[in-house]
Amino acid sequence: MADADLLIGEVAAYLKPQDVEHIREAIEFSHAAHQGQTRQSGDPYISHPIAVARTLTTLHLDVQAIIAALLHDVVEDTKITAEQIAEKFGKPVAELVDGLSKLDRIRFETREDAEAENFRKMLLAMARDVRVILIKLADRLHNMRTLESMPHEKWERIARETMEIYAPIANRLGLNDIYRELQDLSFKHLHPNRYAVLFKALKVARGNRREVVGKILDAIRQRLAEQHIQADVTGREKNIYSIYKKMQSKSLAFAEVLDIYGFRVLVNDFAACYLALGALHGLYKPIPGKFKDYIAIPKVNGYQSLHTTLFGPFGTPIEIQIRTHEMHKIAAAGVASHWLYKSGHFSTNDLHKKTHQWLQELLESLSQSSDSSEFLEHLKVDLFPDEVYVFTPKGKILSLPRGATAVDFAYSVHTDIGNRCIAVKVNHELAPLRTELRNGDRVEIITAPHAKPNPAWLGYVATGRARGHIRHFLKTMQSGESAQLGERLLNQALQTLGVKPQDMDEAHWDKLLKDTGVKSRQDLLADIGLGRRLNMVVARQLARVGDAAPSETAANTVITIQGTEGMAVQFAKCCRPIPGDPIIGVIKSGQGLVVHTHDCPALRKGRSGSEQWLDVVWDKNITRPFEVGIKLVVANQRGVLAKVAAAIAEAESNIENVNFTNEGEYTALHFTLQVNNRLHLANIIRSLRKIPEVMRIIR
Ligand code: MN
Repeated sequence: MADADLLIGEVAAYLKPQDVEHIREAIEFSHAAHQGQTRQSGDPYISHPIAVARTLTTLHLDVQAIIAALLHDVVEDTKITAEQIAEKFGKPVAELVDGLSKLDRIRFETREDAEAENFRKMLLAMARDVRVILIKLADRLHNMRTLESMPHEKWERIARETMEIYAPIANRLGLNDIYRELQDLSFKHLHPNRYAVLFKALKVARGNRREVVGKILDAIRQRLAEQHIQADVTGREKNIYSIYKKMQSKSLAFAEVLDIYGFRVLVNDFAACYLALGALHGLYKPIPGKFKDYIAIPKVNGYQSLHTTLFGPFGTPIEIQIRTHEMHKIAAAGVASHWLYKSGHFSTNDLHKKTHQWLQELLESLSQSSDSSEFLEHLKVDLFPDEVYVFTPKGKILSLPRGATAVDFAYSVHTDIGNRCIAVKVNHELAPLRTELRNGDRVEIITAPHAKPNPAWLGYVATGRARGHIRHFLKTMQSGESAQLGERLLNQALQTLGVKPQDMDEAHWDKLLKDTGVKSRQDLLADIGLGRRLNMVVARQLARVGDAAPSETAANTVITIQGTEGMAVQFAKCCRPIPGDPIIGVIKSGQGLVVHTHDCPALRKGRSGSEQWLDVVWDKNITRPFEVGIKLVVANQRGVLAKVAAAIAEAESNIENVNFTNEGEYTALHFTLQVNNRLHLANIIRSLRKIPEVMRIIR
């Protein structure tokens, strides 16, 4: 393993001996775990994690990151578990590996530009630790370097993903070298022919240019020396992809693009940057409008440099970048320059502190320009967002505020989806609607045509959109349903007065609304349904039959309960009536109609003058299930609950809830069951009686 020795040599140059020892162990561990596996190229698998780790040593990443890089595919591809890694290499390393596995599991599937930005944010949000992203980028870099040996039909997907997702992330984090290499490798596999042509042309051009470049280099060095400015001056090559882009975007021929010479001037301090600029502007004339001061106003990824373009000796433009050595380190390593810079005397605390510290340092090194706050803003958004990014079943990405639940998701897809949602699958598994969504979740809402929003949702939704829609729906539903009930109550009252409801025309209604001061017929009916007005009183007013006390017949009016009245009809929690039970209705002001059983003790006790009693009966064709409470006293024996639950399921009922209380040598089980009617309940009780341990059943 020659490459393993190279890695050891590289880390030994900047890490402590005991860290190097841990890395040696990690190589052994990874080697053993991947034993027998090979890459597509035929190389032993271990060559891949070592290559990934070696990319990270160029950034001087810390020992945890190097070990995590070595183990990054171990959990996904071998029998080793996250626990084993935590035990052997510590929890922080295991967490880095876990973060990487999570990123591996999500795939970029759509082709839309807008989605790519969201996907990048999702990756950054999921990574949480900057090191996870750095390892991921190094992983992708090596996979791209070896893409050649992958089957041809996989090139496009992987190269496109790299171009649209990973290269921009590398750029955003300021990892210039990795950014450019990822671009060139993607371009090479997306457009092999164009790449080959440009590659060849560039090789030829380089030979021709050598002389010109040498002359300009000499002139620049001499001028800087005359002005006593210490500087390293180098010629700069564009990467192939940026040449291609320039040709495309500016419709330039290859020769025209290449007819620009690039140089880089590295100096010792900040002031020398501007001195060098002045010296070079004296050497060759600057092209107006091309000067950019990224030292005073750094780019959002922290990049600092002076850029200027000069008229060269042969009339060719010369692009020059001037910056300090320190700025150059940041330009090459970006976010990682923190490690590059500080490694050695750098304590490994938690990541937030680290990232924060890095930000602070970078901010301090930035001049106090208005842009530095924008820079901070960007990193905050990307690394610690207040948002979660989740997938729709079609692979689209939605961004929701942190804490958002499945119900929020449903409403953000469509109001109708929200109003009709009944359940959710998160990552293909059924979950409660209140489930808080996490980055990368794939969310699928299950709807039912007649489902309605539940008031309980208001307790956990996080978006204003969901809240608004739920409130709106409940309000209209409540008044709509109450109005329907109100209409039935009013019609029955009219009939007992001997008036046909259809005889009540507009004139009657207009007069009634005027008399009562209610805005609309709908509101008035809703008032009756909610018990704010008595049906008999309104009926009399409407039919103008005088003020006589309600006749005895009115009390005998019977209302049919269908079970689908929604919030206008409630079933009392004290007695939980089910179809088949003799029932009675009570209208309480503001509550609407509440249905109790005839023998409900709470009803007898709580009777007051402010309520109206109504005779109600069950409709014959009720199909919806009702909740009923039963209490079972059972012997304390193992497996009783399982037996009881099995019997209940056998009788085709659902258990909504169960509680236990201890009653000496017995246990009381308090069930809430779903039943269709009294007969159904009787069947359930009969089969429960057959269980020997069941002593008593009380409804
Ligand atoms: Mn890998």
